[in-house]
Amino acid sequence: MAPGSIQAPVEPGLETAESTRGSGGGEGRIRCPKCGWSPRREDRWMCSCRHVWNTFDTGGVCPACLKQWTETCCLACHKWSPHSDWYPKDQAR
Ligand SMILES: [Zn+2]
Ligand SMILES: [Zn+2]
Repeated sequence: MAPGSIQAPVEPGLETAESTRGSGGGEGRIRCPKCGWSPRREDRWMCSCRHVWNTFDTGGVCPACLKQWTETCCLACHKWSPHSDWYPKDQAR
């Protein structure tokens, strides 16, 4: 954006990982098997008991009522998929 003096401040202790680059390229990340949307840490799901939490923090278990959600609704495409399908599977590389 700003040509001329390019001095990108390097955060100490932060390695420039090429795998984590802003948007897209979420290999090995949790994502919706239907549309490919990746949930973030701050995304929240609501249980039938009205508790709100990040379902991937607990593997689909509501920490309030301990209900096991075998399917997870995508916040982007609003489709339900088996919780295990959200996790990356071993793929031949
Ligand atoms: Zn609950
Ligand atoms: Zn989706």
